[in-house]
Amino acid sequence: MNNKTFHLVSLGCAKNTVDSNSMAQLLQQDGYSTEEDPAKAEVLIVNTCGFIDPAREESYAVLRDLALEKGKNQLLIAAGCLTQRYGADVVKRIPGIDGVIGTRRWMDICQVVSQLRKEKSPQPLYHLPDAEVVGRSPQGIVGSHIQGSSAYLKIADGCRRPCAFCAIPMIKGTAVSRPIEKILQDAHYLQSQGIREINLIAQDTTDYGHDLGLNDGLASLLTELTKAVPDVDWIRILYAYPGYITDQLIEVMATHDQILPYIDIPLQHAAPEILRKMRRPANMDWVYQTVEKLRRAMPELALRTTFIVGYPGESEKAFATLLDFIKGVRFDRVGVFEFSFEPGTTSEALGDPIPAAVKSERKEHLMLAQQGISLEINQVLVGQRMDVLIEGQGTVAGSTEVISLGRTYRDAPEIDGMVIVEGELPEGELSQVRITGAMTYDLIGVPVTSPES
Ligand code: SF4
Repeated sequence: MNNKTFHLVSLGCAKNTVDSNSMAQLLQQDGYSTEEDPAKAEVLIVNTCGFIDPAREESYAVLRDLALEKGKNQLLIAAGCLTQRYGADVVKRIPGIDGVIGTRRWMDICQVVSQLRKEKSPQPLYHLPDAEVVGRSPQGIVGSHIQGSSAYLKIADGCRRPCAFCAIPMIKGTAVSRPIEKILQDAHYLQSQGIREINLIAQDTTDYGHDLGLNDGLASLLTELTKAVPDVDWIRILYAYPGYITDQLIEVMATHDQILPYIDIPLQHAAPEILRKMRRPANMDWVYQTVEKLRRAMPELALRTTFIVGYPGESEKAFATLLDFIKGVRFDRVGVFEFSFEPGTTSEALGDPIPAAVKSERKEHLMLAQQGISLEINQVLVGQRMDVLIEGQGTVAGSTEVISLGRTYRDAPEIDGMVIVEGELPEGELSQVRITGAMTYDLIGVPVTSPES
């Protein structure tokens, strides 16, 4: 097989999806085209995830399936975080891999493919140079991933925070920001493609520009973005690290209509002793004050966070503190993860003493408490008119009645809720909807057809 086609499987987070898209752009520039059917592609690439155990297992499973099905003239390349971290072990576990490229050097994909095509050897080719950090995106590549009329735009990669449970700094190295001009150029491209929503992503968006010598870099970037892409309706900030949400950032968010009153601050816990063990900011006064400032500046703010339960040393008392905290703050959205033991991280020495059953019970408990809060918050929205970004259509089960599915500003793609709207509304556009019903995570609405409706 020598048909210059590739089949790429992207696993893991939105940042990985952006890298996969960037690799695809590089290959296309090099004359390759995508092939949906893995059996027909010359090059098979899996952009793996190595963050926590279930994600690693999924990556191994996808690689294994492709390796088993692979024809003798096909090439299988393992890319991404798993290979950056475990290189030769991945090859040992999955015989049949021809090439290995780490996440720090995804931009070298064409060199790896071309070398493999030239000289296929029984030994896999390793492309894991001693780069300390993720390389910058090459020119000509748009660092984004488009889904309908929404896009993720990567502003930085890597992380310089010391969180004890996290393997990301080990995998990706310290934070590397993309130059502001490059981000604006990509945003321009997205605007020219009719994109309605840009979601800014990085491991830690609030750290944007630190390595470029910028002070309050995210606030400056947002200000520039609003000027550069006035036709993009929604700009959303994801992954803001606690402690770094400045007054200037809040002011920029509150004074620009394009920037959504939505923020995702992964707090991970609320008991200071656990936060200290996690090596995370443990000043809960800052959290309360910042939430208050954000809500004062943007009364319609949608606040999202995530927590880890079952971290080593999390006593019943510490868990109760967390439960009281979520009941007190009343977040709009909460994600809960069970602690996953990661060899090689700073928390390794603490082991994994909390039994799995206790972790899942705590997760359940937290989610149940949050479900009540989410429902109450959603019920307040009934009767309001909201802009909904329509993402698709469907039919009601058991009938031919058409419905549209979309999101309000309160819903980030893939992680938050949906709005189910009666009738067929234009896909990829913002439509005004009157909310008529509320569920725990989702809303129900009808299109606004006249100013009185
Ligand atoms: S902020 Fe902490 S949890 Fe997030 S990527 Fe960085 S080290 Fe990991």
